[in-house]
Amino acid sequence: RARRSSDEPVTIFEAGMHTQTLQALQLESELRAALRDGGLTVHYQPIVDLHSGAPRSLEALVRWQHPQKGLLSPLAFVALAESLGLIHELGMQVLEQVCADIVRWRKLFGSDALPPVSVNLSARQFQVVGLTTDILGTIARHGLPIEAVRVEITESALAEPSGPAAAMLRTLRDAGMKVMIDDFGTGYSTLSYLHTIPCDVLKLDGSFVRTLADTPRLGTIVRRSIELAHDLGMTVVAECIESPLQHDLLLAMGCDYGQGYLYSRPLPAEGIAGLLRDAPPP
Ligand code: C2E
Ligand code: MG
Ligand code: MG
Ligand code: MG
Repeated sequence: RARRSSDEPVTIFEAGMHTQTLQALQLESELRAALRDGGLTVHYQPIVDLHSGAPRSLEALVRWQHPQKGLLSPLAFVALAESLGLIHELGMQVLEQVCADIVRWRKLFGSDALPPVSVNLSARQFQVVGLTTDILGTIARHGLPIEAVRVEITESALAEPSGPAAAMLRTLRDAGMKVMIDDFGTGYSTLSYLHTIPCDVLKLDGSFVRTLADTPRLGTIVRRSIELAHDLGMTVVAECIESPLQHDLLLAMGCDYGQGYLYSRPLPAEGIAGLLRDAPPP
């Protein structure tokens, strides 16, 4: 939005701005094309039982197979999709691929052996009135039980416990879906109103895991957070576990599940099929 008052200096046009604008416009049209032509793909990262190391669920993470730039991380385009109003379209394409992959895996490995898959929801998607209908409808259309899919949402989207986002999560939970709070500890809503958030699984943000070994006082907070989550009937996943030391610390703190490069990087669907084939039965 252009805003200019009489005493404000007028911005002088810079050559660099021109190039930046052109690049932004190009990325925008390329993203629209990717959404139109099926250019997005989904990778999966296992979430393992910290005791046994066995995969217990999978997180779906979107990737963009860019024609020139190669495989792009969501950090390079999710915010753009949000600002262009395309994030719900993106999210639904991810859910479509996830459901199709689950259907394929269930045929290969049987439905009992298959861990549930969580998809990330953007806070912006809670502004879409038909969000819960779209999600539940897609899962049903693929003939999957509701437990096959979970949603991950950051706490910031739930800043208002009585707002529309919380109501939508309640609708999903009433239908039998598990809700996970992503990046827990980074937002504003802290432990004090965890009890107001309708959720089943807490994902402890990677920033805590990273500094855990060097910061004993942080350990106390993490340990107590895990206890509190358990008392509220939730389970806890620690994100970004990269070292055996981090694994051991979190296990000793009573954490249930872990996710990170120590166990597996996010893998394409074929890689996950291999992993599921080798995984011990639950
Ligand atoms: P997130 O949901 O917190 O996902 C975890 C991120 O941590 C992933 O990054 C994953 O690759 C990375 N990660 C996992 N283990 C490790 C580790 O041991 N070390 C380090 N350094 N990183 C690890 P990724 O795939 O780049 O995704 C980044 C973010 O993009 C996600 O964070 C999520 O917020 C967003 N995102 C991904 N897929 C989707 C999607 O389908 N829809 C929406 N709205 N957002 C998505
Ligand atoms: Mg996530
Ligand atoms: Mg996370
Ligand atoms: Mg994150």
